[in-house]
Formats: sequence, C-alpha cells, structure tokens
Amino acid sequence: MKPAPFDYHAPRTLEAAIALLARFELEGVEARVLAGGQSLMPMLAMRVARPQVLVDLGKVEGLDYIRADGDALLIGAMTTKTAAAESALVAAQQPLFHAATRLVGHRQIRNRGSVGGSFAHADPASEYPAVALVQDLQFRARGPSGERWIPAAQFFVSYMTTRLDPAEILAEVRLPPLPPGTGWAIQEFARRSGDLALAGIAATLRRERGQCTDVRICAFGVNATAVRLPAAEQALLGRPADGEHFSRAAAIAGESLEEPMSCIHASADYRRQLVRVLTGRCLEEAATRAA
Ligand SMILES: Cc1cc2nc3c(=O)[nH]c(=O)nc-3n(C[C@H](O)[C@H](O)[C@H](O)COP(=O)(O)OP(=O)(O)OC[C@H]3O[C@@H](n4cnc5c(N)ncnc54)[C@H](O)[C@@H]3O)c2cc1C
Repeated sequence: MKPAPFDYHAPRTLEAAIALLARFELEGVEARVLAGGQSLMPMLAMRVARPQVLVDLGKVEGLDYIRADGDALLIGAMTTKTAAAESALVAAQQPLFHAATRLVGHRQIRNRGSVGGSFAHADPASEYPAVALVQDLQFRARGPSGERWIPAAQFFVSYMTTRLDPAEILAEVRLPPLPPGTGWAIQEFARRSGDLALAGIAATLRRERGQCTDVRICAFGVNATAVRLPAAEQALLGRPADGEHFSRAAAIAGESLEEPMSCIHASADYRRQLVRVLTGRCLEEAATRAA
C-alpha cells in the first residue's frame, strides 16, 4: 500500500519546526514529526497513521551529537543508532545503553533510525524505554512555550504514547552515569535476530559485602509500556547475590506481571515464562559485572 496523501515540510531550525507544529495544532491539522522514518514510514504505508502533514527533522541543525556533561552523557535526538553504537564515549560511559542500541533492529535500521525517534515512538517492545526506566534517563522537550525536562518515570504513558505534547519535539536525552560498581545486563527473545522482542529484560544491581543493593529490573515487550518489576526488585534487596535468590526473584518477576500481552507469536503465559528466564539470566550477568 501507499501512504495517504500528506503535505511535507523540511524546516532548517528547531524553532521553525516547533512553529510549524504549533500552527498546525492551532488549525486542527494533524501533523507528525518525521525523524529516521524507520517506524513512521511503515505506519504510513500501512495507513495505520494518516497525518495530514509531516514535519521532517532531517535538515534541522544541531540535533545530532553525543557529548559528555560531567559524568553524564547528552545525546541529540537526531543522532542515529549507528552513531551511538560506534561511539567510544557511549561504549565507555553508558555500557547498558550501548548494549541496548546494538540489539535494535538491523544495521540498516540503525543507520537511519534516530535515538530520539525510538524514545518518542515508545514501542512497548523497544529496548530503549526499558533502559530509560532502569537508569532514570531524562528527556528535554522543546515546544512553543519553551523547554522542559521530563524524567523517564513520567515520559512513557501507554502504548506508543509519551508525555510529549503535539507541538513538542524531543530535542535531547540525558543519560546519568551508572553508580560505581553497578552491574548491568540486557537480554531479549525475538523470533529472528533483528526483530522486535517478544519479551526482554534490562537490569542493574550493586553488591555490597555479597548482598544486593539498588536492584532495578525492567521488562519490555510484555505490557503497553516497559515496566519496572518492584516486587522482584524488593525480593533481592539486602539478600545474598546468589543463584538461589536470583531464581526466586526471577519467579516473582514472572508472577508479578500484570496482564501480559498475548498475540499470535506469544501467549501471555509464554511471555511470563520468558520474563522469568530472562530475569534470572540478567541478574546472574549483572552480578558478575558488579563483582
Ligand atoms: C524491521 C524493523 C525492525 C526493528 N527492530 C527494532 C528493535 O528491535 N528495537 C527497537 O527499539 N526498534 C526497532 N525498530 C524501530 C526503529 O528502531 C525505529 O528507528 C524507531 O522506532 C524510530 O526512530 P526513527 O528515527 O526512525 O523515527 P520515525 O519513524 O521517524 O518516528 C517514529 C515516531 O516518533 C515520532 N518522533 C520521532 N522523532 C521525534 C522527536 N525528536 N520528537 C518528537 N517526536 C518524534 C514521530 O512523529 C513518529 O510518531 C525496527 C524497525 C524495523 C522497520
């Protein structure tokens, strides 16, 4: 199928892009931002999305960068995932985000798909929102009334829905450093390499005198948004970092999921089982790194 007809704008500045979005919102015209097009173009082609106008960020300057901000990292929204995957700074300072990036789609997708696009698209099966929740990322939104920072815990609202207003553009993502001694892991299960995950887990933990501290576990691909699993996290706090306790926490992770999605590729029960297995593996891997 071909997309429904739409008007196309390619502004050169962020201010101009925001002004266009604000104008269309006022006029009641449905406009969408176009970034790398790796999700939006298929949605247009399938007519799942039928915006009247596209505002392409491809020519907007100043949205493509990776830079250090003290111990944190700032990534411009239009930075491609390939740039993030190949960045020595990202690899050294943000190993969990780096590993997640390498799990996204195929190289061709990563060559075009933007970092900001994945967060703004908020696909429940995407790796990035899980990393955002585990690591407390922050999102800089720019809109007609200025800018605001949105913490990850508030950013993802529901299925492919974020806190961004229609005339707001995600301009930048701030990744705080993992606290010293933090172990991390991300694992997922997909039908084929490069497919979106049927289920996945991102986790971090620290060990002090053999006991788990600051445990964070987040599941993706199972609910409308990525979800932290507090019952499993609590079950490990202050407990020995060993196989027995990891298995117990993994079982709780599976059980505590609220109404996992069910589709032709994976039933709700199958997703529970995946979460259980992947949580156990991630905790073992994170604990090894923490050591
Ligand atoms: C075969 C295939 C496999 C894939 N596998 C994975 C995978 O394993 N994991 C994964 O996470 N993703 C996967 N994807 C999706 C891919 O990562 C997309 O690149 C990403 O979801 C969107 O980024 P984009 O820059 O292409 O955004 P676009 O497709 O251009 O936009 C997506 C949505 O986000 C909005 N948007 C984009 N940028 C902004 C912004 N700066 N501010 C406000 N709104 C914005 C758009 O309006 C649109 O609604 C896959 C895609 C394909 C086709």
